[in-house]
Amino acid sequence: MKESALDKFVRYAKIDTQSKDDAETYPSTQKQFDLLNLLVGELRDLGLADVSIDKYGYVMATIPSNLPRNHRAFGKIPCIGLIAHVDTSPSASGANVNPQIVTYTGGDIVLPGDPSVVIKASENPELSKSIGKTIVTSDGTTLLGADDKAGVAIIMTAAQTLVSDSSILHGDIRIGFTPDEEVGTGTKFFDIKIFGAKFAYTVDGDTVGELNKETFSANQAIITVYGRNIHPGTAKGIMVNSLRAMADIIVRMPKDIAPETTEGYEPYIHPHVLEGEEAKSTLKILLRDFNTPGLDVLKRNLEQIIAEVQPLHPRAKIELKIIEQYRNMKDYMGNDLRVLDCLFEATQRSGLLPTWVPIRGGTDGSRLTEKGLPTPNIFTGGHNYHGPTEWLSVEGMEKSVATIVNLVQVWVDKSAA
Ligand SMILES: [Zn+2]
Repeated sequence: MKESALDKFVRYAKIDTQSKDDAETYPSTQKQFDLLNLLVGELRDLGLADVSIDKYGYVMATIPSNLPRNHRAFGKIPCIGLIAHVDTSPSASGANVNPQIVTYTGGDIVLPGDPSVVIKASENPELSKSIGKTIVTSDGTTLLGADDKAGVAIIMTAAQTLVSDSSILHGDIRIGFTPDEEVGTGTKFFDIKIFGAKFAYTVDGDTVGELNKETFSANQAIITVYGRNIHPGTAKGIMVNSLRAMADIIVRMPKDIAPETTEGYEPYIHPHVLEGEEAKSTLKILLRDFNTPGLDVLKRNLEQIIAEVQPLHPRAKIELKIIEQYRNMKDYMGNDLRVLDCLFEATQRSGLLPTWVPIRGGTDGSRLTEKGLPTPNIFTGGHNYHGPTEWLSVEGMEKSVATIVNLVQVWVDKSAA
């Protein structure tokens, strides 16, 4: 009896792999190696080739092509990569995760470890599709880690299927497991030459049937206001309170171009970290737009605000700095659209109605695509990432496995044509 995707997922979910912001090491936490090293062993046990792990934690392996020499796709099919990240978000604990495997019978789900944590049916429309089916939740005291251990389990299950059924024809497949995606550095040392795939897929999405080929383009803006501090008792005519100028800036930020008020393809300006005292205050702002030149429009919006506020505080010094973060993967996807067409067809072959959904965020695929490895994203069946109400549809996970098994065969068919 082969181990199911669910069994694998539960096993991986119990291993704490939380990553950490602003770490000085790579990966950001040593404990990510607990799962990365385990995967090395499992990939070897499956009999995969070239199984490796480097000092950064990147795990790679190959499922060699099984195409017969006389097959029409032989020598023509590109190497395809499958990628998932092992780390979980710093925003909720990932220690002692206790996965609850339940048959969903409808209504809200009260989690047993903390009854104040409730997965509400009204906030989770996808739940209604899981009535009578198996889902996995945490016990409410931690996140679940379906982001992205569901992706890891899906790739491992697909690999197990491919190596055990020689009737499924495929080209060379490369597998990559990465650390530190949640802290934005998952691909920092990822060597796409060593990986060697021509096209790749991250298995790091959510709702069943949803595929992603577009992400935000992202810049960070930092506004710094310099004032002058002095004892408040003798401050008259001398003190310049940077906080007052900063407040005037924040209050002018457009409320209709904010994460709270936008969806779909709409851009936003999101002030998210504020630090300060009289002498100096700093505001970090996320600028997000699917249309990369639109980031300049958002920047001009901030410049306009500063131009308005500066005369109100003539002795304060206001600075704006822009830092490039990542780019919409669509900008770099290239002309060979097989990477998208094959995925769409593979999802259809799994009995699903695929939809391309823009991600209001970035993925490891955003950076890999920009570096020259086109990498769209595949659903996992997970929901509510980064918090204790995270849940995973087991059927969704199995559909994702089926989609990947179909995907490698669609590539064969397209390459033989
Ligand atoms: Zn993820």
